[in-house]
Amino acid sequence: MFDNKDTTNINQLGEFGLIDLITKSVVLKEASSLKGIGDDAAVLDFKNEKTLISTDLLLEGIHFDLRYVPLKHLGYKAVQVNLSDIYAMNALASQITFSIGVSSKFPIEAVEELYVGALLACDKFGVDLIGGDTSASAQGLVISVTSIGHAKAADIVYRNGASEGDLICVSGDLGGAYVGLQLLEREKMIFLENPEIQPDLEGKDYIIERQLKPEARKDIVDLLRDLKIKPTSMIDVSDGLASELLHICNQSERGCKLYEEKIPIDPMTYDTAREFNLDPTVCALSGGEDYELLFSIKQADYEKIKNVPEITVIGHITEKNSGKELISKSGQVHPLTAQGWNAFRG
Ligand code: ADP
Ligand code: MG
Repeated sequence: MFDNKDTTNINQLGEFGLIDLITKSVVLKEASSLKGIGDDAAVLDFKNEKTLISTDLLLEGIHFDLRYVPLKHLGYKAVQVNLSDIYAMNALASQITFSIGVSSKFPIEAVEELYVGALLACDKFGVDLIGGDTSASAQGLVISVTSIGHAKAADIVYRNGASEGDLICVSGDLGGAYVGLQLLEREKMIFLENPEIQPDLEGKDYIIERQLKPEARKDIVDLLRDLKIKPTSMIDVSDGLASELLHICNQSERGCKLYEEKIPIDPMTYDTAREFNLDPTVCALSGGEDYELLFSIKQADYEKIKNVPEITVIGHITEKNSGKELISKSGQVHPLTAQGWNAFRG
């Protein structure tokens, strides 16, 4: 959805004109960015720290639907989602590249909106835009974001470091992004059938924002550093809690016990899931796109986090042969399975 009424055909500007337009307001702020946009390659200097790199590819019709995702939000989310991967390594993000493929139907003003969102995210998270690529696309919008971060070698947290007895923790709450998507999809169907009807999203701001405007949890990385906690393993929740916890268990060669009653779910997520006849726990386990951090810590660190409202202990790591288990509210034991995000689409 694109609000700007003035539209300029992309062919009027050409590739270089377009690059100039979208990058004219970019200023480098990070000391590690020696050269940004404007040469054949950017130049960075991380002194004695390690460099971390992560890339995402986003395709219209597969990863986003422009019928209900405003372009500014899309630019913002594309950056957030990518930074989240750097934070999930317990590192700090400092640069991104942002590349786009656009069809000629796409007005220049729409591309500008996309970059307004992307640069807003950069600004908020102290990240420099240092390059990208621009191409025509035969059909649909294509976005690729690469983020670059840095950390001391000893601070980097991988997925494979969890040990028996470690506590499993998650930041924020889960399932909201998926339930928000259900709401947006429902309103889209109603709108397509009858364009006279205005979307009814009243009072649902939180879960709509969870879907359209997720926030990468840099604050949790900062908090863990302040608390002098180095997680033993960490991952960000992009595909749903179950799938991410299984990644940690498999890579760490351990089992787990996850307690349903401990999984943090916001009341609005809970109630709206119920309205859709969805099980809120399943939304948290398999919904995805929450971009919270899931991590394990040593038991000795429990005292440091037990009163932190943003962190919830949801279970513990067990030895490999005891399996990966979900303990339901009624005390039943189920094997934890990753249905991923497609589970609901069937
Ligand atoms: P090349 O032909 O070497 O790929 P380009 O003309 O594509 O060079 O890019 C020139 C400069 O503009 C480079 O610094 C590149 O990183 C930057 N750039 C190109 N497209 C984008 C974009 N969509 N967003 C940000 N920077 C871009
Ligand atoms: Mg290029």
